[in-house]
Amino acid sequence: FEKIYRDEDVDLSVLDGRTVAIIGYGSQGRAQSMNMRESGVNIIVGAGDRTRHSSWDKAEADGFEVFSIEEAVDKADIVHILLQDPAQPSVYYESIHKHLKPGQTLSFAHGFAILYGTIKPPKDVDVVLFVPNGPGPVTRQKFKDGSGIWGCVSVDQDVSGHAKETALAISKAVGSTRVGVVDMTFQHETEGDNYEEQVLYGGTIHLMRTMFNIMVKNGYPRSFAYAKAIRSIRSIIDDIDAVGIEAYLTSRASRTCEFAVRHSGPRVINEQAMEEIFEETERGVFARNWLQEFSLGMPTLNRMRRTWADSDMEKTGKIWRDKFGK
Ligand code: NDP
Repeated sequence: FEKIYRDEDVDLSVLDGRTVAIIGYGSQGRAQSMNMRESGVNIIVGAGDRTRHSSWDKAEADGFEVFSIEEAVDKADIVHILLQDPAQPSVYYESIHKHLKPGQTLSFAHGFAILYGTIKPPKDVDVVLFVPNGPGPVTRQKFKDGSGIWGCVSVDQDVSGHAKETALAISKAVGSTRVGVVDMTFQHETEGDNYEEQVLYGGTIHLMRTMFNIMVKNGYPRSFAYAKAIRSIRSIIDDIDAVGIEAYLTSRASRTCEFAVRHSGPRVINEQAMEEIFEETERGVFARNWLQEFSLGMPTLNRMRRTWADSDMEKTGKIWRDKFGK
């Protein structure tokens, strides 16, 4: 089995005396800054122009020293880029690239820009990756609860000879080695993440939507269809995570449920489509489509947002939440 790094394997003191500049203060930026600060790391934040970007005020309100991105890069030993992915290349070439100095570490939370070459760092800096496998607010909450969210680290350039130690120390400061950190390549981190988003997130959400629509079309009350399509999944996932699939099916689910799962479940899955999506992801088709969508101002996303927000299922969900809470 691959090495899984835990707290006892990682030396946080490699960050002593070094300043980490967090570039971008969104979902990950806020959570990682706060966790690292509480782990004793010296954090500053680099934010875009105050008149156009709310990050500056948010980071300052949380008690961080905030600088322009250029200044933060000048002051930092480690430049940790937590900007949204498609915006990274333009911000990088405008405000980061020419301020990087030999010996600094450039760090990412997703391998997209490096894998697809939209960012090409200078050859004299370390380039590393640390990804906590979950949204910022969860990363923050777990840390506050004394736990963490599992993650992965990777090294693309190791000029100092200590790039891996730096990436692992960041992962420890964010809390991930409390539960486990694995080694990954930039390629597998990026493609695996994009595959998960398409198949697991995309598949699950479309499964819920389709199930709701079919039940309502066939006369079921909306509230019942909504509860079946969305609410049940929580207990299933938590149970499976706690005991594993087989134990869940044989000891927690009913015999009818076990038979239904084994008998009909495979028919719901389109394995050929899953293989095709995997292959397209490896060929960079997904990345190209996403970069093109972003550069056009996200027309497809904006249109889908409007129609989905207006759907019967969303309206039912709102009524559920208003009446019964989360
Ligand atoms: P968010 O969208 O939450 O935050 C993006 C940040 O980038 C904001 O602070 C935003 O500032 C800033 N930003 C965007 N455009 C510009 C610009 N032109 N100039 C200056 N600042 C800009 O992103 P996430 O935190 O979700 O993602 C950050 C990184 O973390 C990505 O690489 C992502 O892949 C990775 N990641 C995300 C996870 C997640 O679940 N969210 C999980 C693991 C990794 P402002 O709001 O002020 O405009």
